[in-house]
Amino acid sequence: MAAPLALGRPWPGTAGEARTSMDWQQVQDKWQAFSERVGRSLLGVFGSRNTRVVQAMAPVVKQVAELEEWAKGLSAEDFPRRTLEFKRAFAASEKTLDDVLPEAFAMVREAALRTLGLRHFDVQIVGGYFLHKGAIAEMATGEGKTLVATLPLYLNALTGRSAYLVTVNDYLARRDATWMSPIYEYLGLTVGAIQSAMHPSERLPVYACDIVYGTNNEFGFDYLRDNMKVRLEDQVQRDLYFAIVDEVDSILIDEARTPLIISGPAELTPDKYRQADAVVRRMERDVHFEIKEKERQAALTEEGIEFAEQALSVSSFYEAGNTDWPHYLENAIRAHQLYQSDREYVVEEGEVVIVDEFTGRKMTGRRWSDGLHQAVETKEGLAIRQENQTLATITFQNYFRLYERLAGMTGTAMTEAEEFKKIYGLDVVQIPTNVAVARKDDQDIVYRTEPEKWKAIVDELTEVHQRGQPVLVGTTSVENSEKLSRLLRAASVPHEVLNAKNHEREAHIIARAGERGSVTVATNMAGRGTDIKLGGNFEHRLEGALEEVGLRAGDLERLEAIEPIRSRVRAQCDADEKQVLELSGLYVLGTERHESRRIDNQLRGRSGRQGNVGASRFFLSLEDPLMKRFYREGVKNFMEKLGMKEGVPIESGMVSRAIQRAQKKVEEYYFEIRKNLLEYDEVMDKQRKTIYEERQGVLLGVGLDERVKTMLERTTVRACATFVEDAEGFQRYFLKTFGFEIDGSDAARATAKGGDPQAAVALVLARYDRRETKLGEKLMRQVDRYLLLNGIDTKWKDHLHAIDSLKAGIGLRGYAQRDPKNEYKAEGFKLFGRLLESIEDDVSSLVLRVRVGGEEDDESAAAAALVQGERPPQDGEPASDFAQPKQVYGSAPTRTVSPTATTPAVRTRAALSAPPSPPAAAAFDIKRRQDAIRQQAAAPEGKAANPYPNANRNDPCPCGSGKKYKRCHGAGTT
Ligand code: ADP
Ligand code: MG
Repeated sequence: MAAPLALGRPWPGTAGEARTSMDWQQVQDKWQAFSERVGRSLLGVFGSRNTRVVQAMAPVVKQVAELEEWAKGLSAEDFPRRTLEFKRAFAASEKTLDDVLPEAFAMVREAALRTLGLRHFDVQIVGGYFLHKGAIAEMATGEGKTLVATLPLYLNALTGRSAYLVTVNDYLARRDATWMSPIYEYLGLTVGAIQSAMHPSERLPVYACDIVYGTNNEFGFDYLRDNMKVRLEDQVQRDLYFAIVDEVDSILIDEARTPLIISGPAELTPDKYRQADAVVRRMERDVHFEIKEKERQAALTEEGIEFAEQALSVSSFYEAGNTDWPHYLENAIRAHQLYQSDREYVVEEGEVVIVDEFTGRKMTGRRWSDGLHQAVETKEGLAIRQENQTLATITFQNYFRLYERLAGMTGTAMTEAEEFKKIYGLDVVQIPTNVAVARKDDQDIVYRTEPEKWKAIVDELTEVHQRGQPVLVGTTSVENSEKLSRLLRAASVPHEVLNAKNHEREAHIIARAGERGSVTVATNMAGRGTDIKLGGNFEHRLEGALEEVGLRAGDLERLEAIEPIRSRVRAQCDADEKQVLELSGLYVLGTERHESRRIDNQLRGRSGRQGNVGASRFFLSLEDPLMKRFYREGVKNFMEKLGMKEGVPIESGMVSRAIQRAQKKVEEYYFEIRKNLLEYDEVMDKQRKTIYEERQGVLLGVGLDERVKTMLERTTVRACATFVEDAEGFQRYFLKTFGFEIDGSDAARATAKGGDPQAAVALVLARYDRRETKLGEKLMRQVDRYLLLNGIDTKWKDHLHAIDSLKAGIGLRGYAQRDPKNEYKAEGFKLFGRLLESIEDDVSSLVLRVRVGGEEDDESAAAAALVQGERPPQDGEPASDFAQPKQVYGSAPTRTVSPTATTPAVRTRAALSAPPSPPAAAAFDIKRRQDAIRQQAAAPEGKAANPYPNANRNDPCPCGSGKKYKRCHGAGTT
């Protein structure tokens, strides 16, 4: 992408006109000039498309301004009424969002003025317009992006679909939703904030709001969790329609290196591996089992099944609780028959290390999937390794690309414009500031050594503090902020230290960082999203003043009582601000350059908001990490060239430029890493979409019988190919899989070379139809649904596991002269093919045999009816009860969150009245892989939602899980 777009300053702002309506001619003139300028510069970036965008934009601001009088004439009741009318007109396709945009924006502007006393500046209307158009609006700190977002959020909520605002932490989500809620409420919309501590039943009503605030993590995790839910009504997130990502660079760039991962302990039953191993050692090939060398598969014979059932003292493998035995046994057989030490693997330091069959290289870290690795470990008498396995995962890149419409805003996006465009298809538009920036950015000051630098910083801070000028000191690490704090304490300079640990507390401190005499030391993330106002923070003070008299900001009923207090606090703030302005405003002092120019810009941008005076300067040394990393040899040269002497600093453009070059290199390096991650995830992304789509179709109950029949057909055809010219083998397989016999001539025809499998397929499908007639359509659909979901979920989980181990080992392929990325793609593709087949096999082998409770087993004596542990549905019960696989994801509930005792969330009308949903069944262990941050999520069974409040603690849980009540639904009750 070409150079970032700059709109040139000063912007023909409306600083002095804040609360008055504008003179139309004036507006027109300004826009003429503006769009001419913009039109030219935008053209270079976006080409002709942008000319249209710009042409569309100029009249819009004018129109919104022209509608101001009209909006002023509306009564309070008119606002929600109009909103409803917009919604209706949109739903009826009478109007598009663009049609109603000018009126909608004018109404939001008026609603904000009436409720919060804030009137959107013209530049904010421009910002709102670009957000609606799906661009990234670069607007400096303090330009009021929170207010800007209300425009496009309101407009897009008129579709009745989701309008999300994505923030960096829970505190900001809550704060911004609360802060802006009076506007939305005045307009007749509901708003809510998702908080990480929320129980699923609390999320549902929040997501039902017109506008939802929440963090990137929560939105992403809810997406993954929804796709693990077994009932439609438990899914919380609505469709992914419109999202504005605030601090978009932080979320889509800084955080994009770490994917979201939901993981849980892999099921571990060492006993079963051991028992299976012992039994298999006594079995005989071709008597108890058959081996398919080429496919590397093993299958038990009827005789083998009988033998094993006896050996294990199990009455039948087709009864509840025993159905997994054949899988353990077959893996044990494969381990003994097909996998040999020093050929397929080697044992090293108590670990089974796979040997690549083509290159003979050891693939340390990789594991066979689906229990095979454990079976081999057991065979070798090794300890079975406990694993934590991925249950669901997505990168932020791919999550946010799922949205139909995406937009972003931040103070610093330009340096990353190319990445936004390439990865997300987002254009960056620099919105001019409301008032021209008056901050003075001084030339970097450079010292020879670090100690010299730190000493100079402390001297500077001491002096600035004595003068009374507020100063914000930026450090690049927590260590450095602590180091500086020690030095300041020694020099008796009072100060606050922030390092992005407690978002709420830090927001309050940073909000006061503009007060006279304050010294605030912060790492770059600390207090993010909070504006530093000179003299102190108006909102915070207003809140305090209102609290004293029992009022709440934005209380729509008490607007008249609030107004005089608002004016008084405003006057007070203005006076304090004036004082600090006389001291030259906020001074930002950087103690080092960050790896990314963007973060430096962010720090600088904290000062000089809304045209205030201010200053910024970076203190550097030739020993700073960035210098040493890139100019190890050059440092001496620098010193000589610059003629540096001990203790004497220099202002050097040369050093600054060198640093900038280093920063660019680091930025590129990280971009490569993110691109790499994305390329790897691309394979998974397609697969995830396919599976999730399939799964959602099943949840919705769309064409269940068709899905199953297709699977039956494909499984049968595949088996015919496998057993080509082996009619007897096919007959045995057929009986075992479908539970009834196929006669010899049919089998011969189906398995003949170039034969016709269709007769066999017809038999299987007819059997299915017969079963449906017998069970009834309703019950049969429930069986279908259950088997499909169960098959997809268990096999998908196995697949993720296989992909994980593939990834773990793939790096080693590079040595073998193969491109790891291509290898990964090819292997991943193969694995996915196998996944689909194994889902088909799984469903097919059960659907004709599974015995539904009470069903007479009269179809065939040989039919190995499989009783799942599920309770059959009673008349009138919802189908979903039946179709609730118990432990699809393993892992039992571990934490109880009472839905009543969580963080205060903003929930308005609709949100509060919606009924709570039943809680999700499983608890998921969540971690962000690289950080190894693990947190418990998706809290299980909350007290209030416990459906069996009267059960006895020591009895089996009424849900039928087989666990005691106190360990299941009764966990956490006393
Ligand atoms: P940003 O996110 O762009 O850094 P914020 O949304 O935090 O900025 O807003 C910064 C401050 O600007 C807030 O205190 C807000 O009250 C003020 N502000 C925003 N828009 C306006 C406006 N149109 N008129 C007056 N003050 C405004
Ligand atoms: Mg902000």
